[in-house]
Amino acid sequence: MQVWKFGGTSVGKPERMHSIRQLITEDGKPKIVVLSALSGSTNSLLSISESLISKNITEAKEKANELRAHYDAFIQELYKTPSGLGKGQTIVEKEFAFIDQLITTVPYTLKEEKEMVALGELLSTQIFEAYLQEEGIDSLLLPALDFMVIDADNEPILSKIESNLATILAPHKGKQIFITQGFICRNPAGEVDNLKRGGSDYTASLIGGAIAAEEVQIWTDIDGMHNNDPRIVKNTFPIRELSFAEAAELAYFGAKILHPSTITPAKLKGVPVRLKNTLEPIAYGTLISEKSTDIEIKAIAAKDNITAIYIHSTRMLNAYGFLKRVFEVFEKYKTPVDMITTSEVSVSVTIDNTQNLDAIMSELREFADLEDPDMNQVIVCIVGNFYADKEGIAIKVLNAMKNIPIRMISYGASEHNISLLVDTKFKNDSLNALNEGLFF
Ligand code: ASP
Ligand code: MG
Repeated sequence: MQVWKFGGTSVGKPERMHSIRQLITEDGKPKIVVLSALSGSTNSLLSISESLISKNITEAKEKANELRAHYDAFIQELYKTPSGLGKGQTIVEKEFAFIDQLITTVPYTLKEEKEMVALGELLSTQIFEAYLQEEGIDSLLLPALDFMVIDADNEPILSKIESNLATILAPHKGKQIFITQGFICRNPAGEVDNLKRGGSDYTASLIGGAIAAEEVQIWTDIDGMHNNDPRIVKNTFPIRELSFAEAAELAYFGAKILHPSTITPAKLKGVPVRLKNTLEPIAYGTLISEKSTDIEIKAIAAKDNITAIYIHSTRMLNAYGFLKRVFEVFEKYKTPVDMITTSEVSVSVTIDNTQNLDAIMSELREFADLEDPDMNQVIVCIVGNFYADKEGIAIKVLNAMKNIPIRMISYGASEHNISLLVDTKFKNDSLNALNEGLFF
């Protein structure tokens, strides 16, 4: 069994749904198909929610009507038969009645908001399933809310998802196509919840891990993970093969194509993840698996909105216990540290969550001297295979960056990552310079 996930743009137009139907059926292999909401829907639902939080009911209703008009037009174009269209209308009618109900719920809380944003995936999957029925395809809708569960820390419980799915799938041996929702899940209170924005990728790999799938395929509208950000750099190309470790670094460091947690369950269960392009299905895409190729430098990615904090020990040389005290402060404020560099008397760290920056700074000041933090920094990371005995990698990187000021360099923590901290105003120059210097 394979798990195939289609993102918002891949289901965002009726003709795209038509091509997906073609894609999922033509190889004759059984699969679980995970769908995102139609492109723009999750944003619209959140925007309705914002109006409700600011108690602007009229505005919420207007936004809901606009969204409804979009779905009405969508199903008109999607279905070919009156009975297909009838089913589509019933689905849209029912879910928008629920939206109306949420709009009038007082008080409107986070619980209602989560029910609201879940509607994107609930709509796309039901509409698509009715379309498959119209086409006479042997398929079944599996409600994600029946098996996708998270714990009190919002972490998916893979063992539970595994046993839930085993029970649900057992009576359907031989079924070719299962459809389910990405993104949505239930929390320990049994309420509707979600895996955070972009979470449908994560759903797919969790299902892949849970059923020990042959492969997970993530279908988007780009031909795989690129070696650099194609929005900023001209000559980028898809990477054919990545190891789980390399892909995890890239997904975390800003390669927007994949939800950063996607790799975890796939790696855990050894399920390969393939990134594919719905607009060009024959393109190879990117294969992420256990094995790594020995290509030295594979990709460059950037993580925005980074803040650097510069900490100097007041007790000078050979003091021990200093780092411990520093990190205890970050731990206390549940603030993850991304990059660290040290000298004999100083340590610099970067964070991306600045919610508790002031409190962190004032606690650090109790035992250290601080410089003003630098906001608006970017971590540029170079991903590949940098085994310690390989020569010449650092010089290539530094040469490429020779005209760009670098604030911090981190190399040696992982064999797969070199990280540089630069000011945001040098982000584009850095990505371009590294592309030229490392790939051409
Ligand atoms: N629909 C959700 C979002 O827009 C989940 C996803 O598309 O992966 O974030
Ligand atoms: Mg996505």
